[in-house]
Amino acid sequence: MKNKFVLGIEGTAWNLSAAIIDRTDVIAEAESHYTPKEGGLHPRMAAQHHASEIGDLIRDVLAEGKEHGVDLSAVAFSQGPGFGPCLRTVATAARALSLALGIPLIGVNHCIAHIEVGRWICNAKDPVILYVSGGNSQVLSYRDGKYRIFGETLDIGIGNALDKFGRYAGFQHPGGPKIEEMAKNAKKYIPLPYVVKGMDFSFSGLTTAAKEALAHASLEDVCHSFQETAFAMLVEVTERALAHIGKDEVLLAGGVGANERLKEMLDLMCKDRGAKFYAPEKKFMCDNGIMIARTGLLMLESDATLSIKDSAVIPNYRPDDVDVTWI
Ligand code: AMP
Ligand code: MG
Repeated sequence: MKNKFVLGIEGTAWNLSAAIIDRTDVIAEAESHYTPKEGGLHPRMAAQHHASEIGDLIRDVLAEGKEHGVDLSAVAFSQGPGFGPCLRTVATAARALSLALGIPLIGVNHCIAHIEVGRWICNAKDPVILYVSGGNSQVLSYRDGKYRIFGETLDIGIGNALDKFGRYAGFQHPGGPKIEEMAKNAKKYIPLPYVVKGMDFSFSGLTTAAKEALAHASLEDVCHSFQETAFAMLVEVTERALAHIGKDEVLLAGGVGANERLKEMLDLMCKDRGAKFYAPEKKFMCDNGIMIARTGLLMLESDATLSIKDSAVIPNYRPDDVDVTWI
């Protein structure tokens, strides 16, 4: 079979990123981050950032690919979920490339891309996935042609909760990594609301309580307590999914997965249950073009391509809406 090369473009939120991969390797990659000077991510500002950077970014990746003799087989893009203006900017570029190069267009679900890159890099077979990012928090696993959602946030994503609290505490966006640093110097745990309902979890009450706790406790202690409480909720639901479905692998995905304490807690739970725990390195955990290219390749090989007229972006695209044609 002829080697296939896929260009993947990611730009649902803060990271505009493009990469070319084949079955085994990453051939080329480039990225450009949008970091708000103050406040949180602004969809229109992020889209403006992407629009002004995407031309040079794609040119660089294509040039690097050319040096390696790449003949592109398809172009894949993040079709959703994500900020509408950002999604539209990236989709427009992907459609133009598909038309100009005469190659298939592939619309990738961003959540599934986080899963597929993790499976690829870690060589995980059939894991329960804890997917934790800015906008999303879900526990999923593959069954009968779909990635089923076993538990998810009832309000905001864990990354969003960390970033909101971080902003209140005076950290620049993103707050997650700074909270992790502060938590290392904590002296004690302060009880905060632990909210697991059935298999779902909620973070907005925890965020409000953590902000209020700053009036009487040190920032270090509140950061630590926020992490311990939120991560315990996520680990509890992941463990129950593992027990319920009867699988023996856990894969961590999404930007919050860069957190060492979360990894440690999941690793302990997995050791207790005799399950394998997989966490790809940080660059594959955060939003990146490689994950879109990898999922695009799997979709290309199972003929899941898109016509231009069906390529509208889907800002609230759920992973369980996708027919998984490649497993
Ligand atoms: P993503 O959208 O998947 O790229 O994830 C972005 C989110 O990951 C943001 O909310 C960040 O605050 C969060 N994040 C990144 N690094 C860490 C970390 N070390 N600890 C906790 N959250 C993090
Ligand atoms: Mg993401």
